[in-house]
Amino acid sequence: MVLLSHTQLPSQMNTRKYSFSTAILLLLYVLIPRDSAVSLAQPISFSSSAYDGAFIADRRCYDPEDDEGTSSMSSATCKNQTRRGTAVAEDCLVWSKECSEAVLSIARRPEMGEWLRRVRRRIHENPELAFEEYETSRLIREELDLMQVSYRYPLAKTGIRAWIGTGLPPFVAIRADMDALPIQEAVEWEYKSKVAGKMHACGHDVHVAMLMGAAKILKTREHLLKGTVILIFQPAEEAGNGAKRMIQDGALEDVEAIFAVHVSHEHPTGIIGSRPGPLLAGCGFFRAVISGKEASAYNPHRSVDPVLAASAIVTSLQGIVSREANPLDSQVVSVTSFNGGDNLDMIPDTVVLGGTFRAYSNASFYQLIERIEQVIVEQASVYRCSAEVDFFEKELNIYPPTVNDDRMYEHVKKVSMDLLGASNFREVPPMMGAEDFSFYTQVVPAAFFYIGIRNETLGSTHTGHSPYFMIDEDVLPIGAATHAAIAERYLLEQG
Ligand SMILES: [Zn+2]
Ligand SMILES: [Zn+2]
Repeated sequence: MVLLSHTQLPSQMNTRKYSFSTAILLLLYVLIPRDSAVSLAQPISFSSSAYDGAFIADRRCYDPEDDEGTSSMSSATCKNQTRRGTAVAEDCLVWSKECSEAVLSIARRPEMGEWLRRVRRRIHENPELAFEEYETSRLIREELDLMQVSYRYPLAKTGIRAWIGTGLPPFVAIRADMDALPIQEAVEWEYKSKVAGKMHACGHDVHVAMLMGAAKILKTREHLLKGTVILIFQPAEEAGNGAKRMIQDGALEDVEAIFAVHVSHEHPTGIIGSRPGPLLAGCGFFRAVISGKEASAYNPHRSVDPVLAASAIVTSLQGIVSREANPLDSQVVSVTSFNGGDNLDMIPDTVVLGGTFRAYSNASFYQLIERIEQVIVEQASVYRCSAEVDFFEKELNIYPPTVNDDRMYEHVKKVSMDLLGASNFREVPPMMGAEDFSFYTQVVPAAFFYIGIRNETLGSTHTGHSPYFMIDEDVLPIGAATHAAIAERYLLEQG
């Protein structure tokens, strides 16, 4: 659809066209007086309707004193340039288009794009599972050291809480998860996972790289921050409730709002998607042991039959959603496992059954937990059996719903539209998947959003957790800029 024409812009800018235009500008700089070089460089620009010009390499200004020789700014930001290589749009006391462009100008520097890809590929090659993210965490800390960003480590075993800004309130957090999945990568490419049976199949390598890119942007603009940005790198999103452990270890100390992004194969590269209110379902599992009394099948009166009791339980569990839940409040209860004896001539003494449940609101989620237990225990007793129900809370395998705060959602929407163009934001439907970002949403106002990675040409069309999952790396600078703008602008307008 609108996919390829505009999503390729960042990489074009970062490679071929950039080097061509840089060469011309350098030549102009050598051959003619400096004042003239700016105006003569004007014809070299790129355009895109899809991004409303926001992510376009507008090369009307060139700073030959920039060490990296890479600054790329609009004429407006050039005029306001007060530091070498840094665009300062009227100090951004009031957020303007120039402020968005200044953030983008840092994100779209070629060396930024290359660094982001390098970081992401190093993490992708060395995937680490939940609470084992030692090398990933080390890499992040090494890069933060190079950026001279302060941090606290460890939280939740491998997690990091870094900060940029005044050190004073307000505090706003942006978060990335670091863990990989126990999946064998089936994508054949140069930076394929080097660890058998482990893969970044959910894009958490991308989340880390984008958050580090945001750190780089925010560090460059630290003198403009009207408070403190907290960067949270958390372990164990896929399993183990890493977010919960991070909160217990103080990740949200002083934080008044938090934001996070997840890559999505459903949207073209760079498209931002979110919604107010419930975005992702709460997810939990249950396992019940129904105990009766064993007896020969031909003497059923001597048994207390758990098979009959468990069968009635399965039927009764269906009534929770179909007869107790508001049909406009989506919920699921599914029994997925049922195991009794293995002797066809004996009534067993126990049956073990289990399943999963989902809900979109916290109230419905915790109501389901209560009712599932009640139905199982009470129904078992009707048949003279006893029952014990386990919700795996000890194993940290329970995720509340991810519910976006309306004001934080509006903030993400406004920042994204101003940064990337109105057509690059979408309100998306809720999904039945779950995400442990939900634990943060229970503590402070929060918003979770998606960023598209879908590029038909590259083949980045596979769902997360697929062994064929891959991403369009052009998303990296866009995600970094979005993170940074959301945080900086929050401090300016919402703090
Ligand atoms: Zn995942
Ligand atoms: Zn994920």
